[in-house]
Amino acid sequence: MPPPVYYTNCNSAAAPDGIPVPLFLPNFDLQHLNTLGVPVKAQFYVSVTSEEELLEALRYARNEKLPLFILGGGSNIVLCDDLPGLVVHIRLQGKTLVAEDNEFVWLRVAAGENWHELVEYCLDFHYWGLENLSLIPGSVGAAPIQNIGAYGVELKDVFEELTAIDIRSGLPVTFTRDSCEFGYRDSIFKGRLRDQYLITAVTFKLHKQPHLVLSYPALREALAAHADDAITPRQVSQVICEIRRNKLPDPAQIPNVGSFFKNPVIPATQYESLRANHPQLVAYPVDDQQVKLAAAWLIDNAGWRGQVCGPVAVHGQQALVLTNPGHAKGHEVVALAEKIQLSVFEKYGVALEPEPRFYP
Ligand SMILES: Cc1cc2nc3c(=O)[nH]c(=O)nc-3n(C[C@H](O)[C@H](O)[C@H](O)COP(=O)(O)OP(=O)(O)OC[C@H]3O[C@@H](n4cnc5c(N)ncnc54)[C@H](O)[C@@H]3O)c2cc1C
Repeated sequence: MPPPVYYTNCNSAAAPDGIPVPLFLPNFDLQHLNTLGVPVKAQFYVSVTSEEELLEALRYARNEKLPLFILGGGSNIVLCDDLPGLVVHIRLQGKTLVAEDNEFVWLRVAAGENWHELVEYCLDFHYWGLENLSLIPGSVGAAPIQNIGAYGVELKDVFEELTAIDIRSGLPVTFTRDSCEFGYRDSIFKGRLRDQYLITAVTFKLHKQPHLVLSYPALREALAAHADDAITPRQVSQVICEIRRNKLPDPAQIPNVGSFFKNPVIPATQYESLRANHPQLVAYPVDDQQVKLAAAWLIDNAGWRGQVCGPVAVHGQQALVLTNPGHAKGHEVVALAEKIQLSVFEKYGVALEPEPRFYP
């Protein structure tokens, strides 16, 4: 184990040469920093609130040859065991209006800002486009990782660019929308460049005039009493918050990571033969060739909704959500997920892919 460098106070501490450095805490409990409430420890933990602290943390990890884990709000990870190396908790703050024209504003937001607080901020300042993404937990810096999406809108629809630090070299890099290779709950940072870049800020391109997306059926239904031109973005946000609060368990009360599986996308031909045997199958067309199945329907109809497996459970209202009321270990959550995957595959021949990322 490398010798840790300690200074007495995290953010006001200074090294002998006057450069502020973060505090590296050994054997740090992460139970309250992951929304699944899994009790694991980090070999070392550091919370960074400035780019200087961040660079210092990267230098430390590099010098001591510690693997790095980047932590945001901890709402899309399953920690299966104690984390070796250094956990860097991104707490960079700040919002800057970098440009505007008649139609748009470009807002640069630091990675450690809370996502829903950003949505609220934009509603207050009449920067439109984020309202459908209301109440998604987590940080701004993690949002591009899986191209967060909800109620007919994805991050990529409002994304201009991001800045990141190449973890190996410590050098800054800019990623445009194309270079992020966004897909359904996916980006280059989940694939080819997994765990290689640390996102420090995201720039959003937001509308100055309301630009409502009301296509999602539950949203349309909830707003059915209103004429389209009388609906405001604030109303859309409020309705979505209400739907989400009714549908999804609050991780502060019942630990969870939201949807545990992605909705599987299958060839239209496979969908047709499945539908012949299961006429109630819930699905949405992707294009002429592909269909997206509702993973919740598959799990529910395989008999899993409301099932309790020791300390872990499948949520009673939403079969896509695995909950951890008993503070299970990560591997117990994974074991239940694997049982569900197997049973859905046996019944429907469809593979479910987990949405959160498993560590270490
Ligand atoms: C109740 C609930 C509801 C949810 N609903 C939705 C939803 O509707 N739509 C949706 O898309 N998601 C949803 N999620 C999932 C989750 O909120 C999002 O994926 C969110 O963006 C994760 O942010 P985070 O800061 O918590 O990331 P974390 O869980 O901390 O990290 C997730 C991944 O991103 C990496 N990472 C984090 N920050 C950075 C950074 N600055 N630079 C580089 N890598 C980084 C981590 O290393 C990890 O691999 C939900 C989760 C919960 C608990």
